[in-house]
Amino acid sequence: MSVKVRFAPSPTGRLHVGNVRTALANWLFAKGQGGKFVLRIDDTDLERSTKDFEDGIETDLKWLGLEWDERYNQSQRFPIYQAAAERLKAMGRLYPAYETQEELDRRRKVQLSRGQPPIYDRAALKLTKEEREKLEAEGRRPHWRFRLDGRRVKWDDLVRGPSEVDTASMSDPVLIREDGLFLYTLPSVVDDVDMDITHVIRGEDHVTNTGAQIEIFQALGAREPGFAHMPLLVGADGEALSKRLGSLSISEMREQGFEPLAITSHLAKIGTSDNLEIGTSMPELGAGFSFSKMGRAPARYDTADLERLNAQALHAMDYAAAKPRLAALDADLGEAFWHSARANLGKFADVVLWAKVVRGPITPAVEDQAFLDQAAELLPETIDAGAWGAWAEAVKAKTGAKGKGLFMPLRKAITGEDHGPDMASLLPLIGREKILGRLKGQAA
Ligand code: GLU
Repeated sequence: MSVKVRFAPSPTGRLHVGNVRTALANWLFAKGQGGKFVLRIDDTDLERSTKDFEDGIETDLKWLGLEWDERYNQSQRFPIYQAAAERLKAMGRLYPAYETQEELDRRRKVQLSRGQPPIYDRAALKLTKEEREKLEAEGRRPHWRFRLDGRRVKWDDLVRGPSEVDTASMSDPVLIREDGLFLYTLPSVVDDVDMDITHVIRGEDHVTNTGAQIEIFQALGAREPGFAHMPLLVGADGEALSKRLGSLSISEMREQGFEPLAITSHLAKIGTSDNLEIGTSMPELGAGFSFSKMGRAPARYDTADLERLNAQALHAMDYAAAKPRLAALDADLGEAFWHSARANLGKFADVVLWAKVVRGPITPAVEDQAFLDQAAELLPETIDAGAWGAWAEAVKAKTGAKGKGLFMPLRKAITGEDHGPDMASLLPLIGREKILGRLKGQAA
């Protein structure tokens, strides 16, 4: 059986780290198994779905490297859902109900006050044909509920292990609203069947849905797919991320300069037994992905970890990958420059500072001009890879300065900064003339 999974985002907002983690788990699982990844735009809610959000989802997924093999819009598949609904109606599994929201709320309050679970009482099932006709004559339009079996629905979850949901403790879910709109539950199942989806991978918040949806799969005469429900994300403080997800959109993270591979490595590895380290590529992340590594505790999302991984991604980036991006920032000063600068980058754009340091002019930071004058006299004629080591030794012998007291004044004068790339690699890039100028306190 070849694996086929789907990511089914609703285009009602921007993608954030929570839904991208779901997309990623689907993609990695599929690719790790040589399977297929389907993008299914869950746009049955025509009022809230927008083309802009849909385009944004595609842009974000492509940028992250989560390319899809097939793509669908649920809004173009209504006749298929309608046909499935008719089948369920014919079986008596989908029944019309006429209660208004106020009526339902009132009944729920009564149930709660009596200490009963607030489950829909199925009053609509007891309506006679005449009663239904009377309600419709009054202008009431039905919504449609799926009649649950009320049993223990079991599955072997790839993350949670043997799982069950007691559908007797749930209200019969509304599948079609009174205005004819299909809610998510039925289209999702119909498409999973129609598209031969083998595994449904999604957040733990869908566990209860899974109970109802397995009943719908079976009512439609289909075998349900496998399921994996991933624990939700929490912030570094242990609080649920759900309220903060708005500020963790992928488009914002892209603007902040995070690397796609840092984001995917981070999201692939939090909440698993893997070390939180940068991956080398998406296929490599896919090959290493397994639900058996995923714990059941919430996964801790800490931006500090992402920043660390982002730096790792840049430190490992080769010149060929960096070159066009350096050029776009007018900072392509060659391979040696990239190798010197990359170890000092938190974000790619930080490289602009080091290009300026190499190119000049910069304003040297001078504290002790006499010391710098002595150092200038000792500067080797040829500034090659060994120059810094030899020079520092000579300055040390002459002035007695050592450690930070030796390196820091030289670094600050030559770069204008108190941190930065390794001096041995920077000096040949800057060149003797500019070094001498800066040692004299000149902008060079
Ligand atoms: N549109 C649903 C969601 O984003 C899809 C859930 C599913 O994967 O079945 O929650």
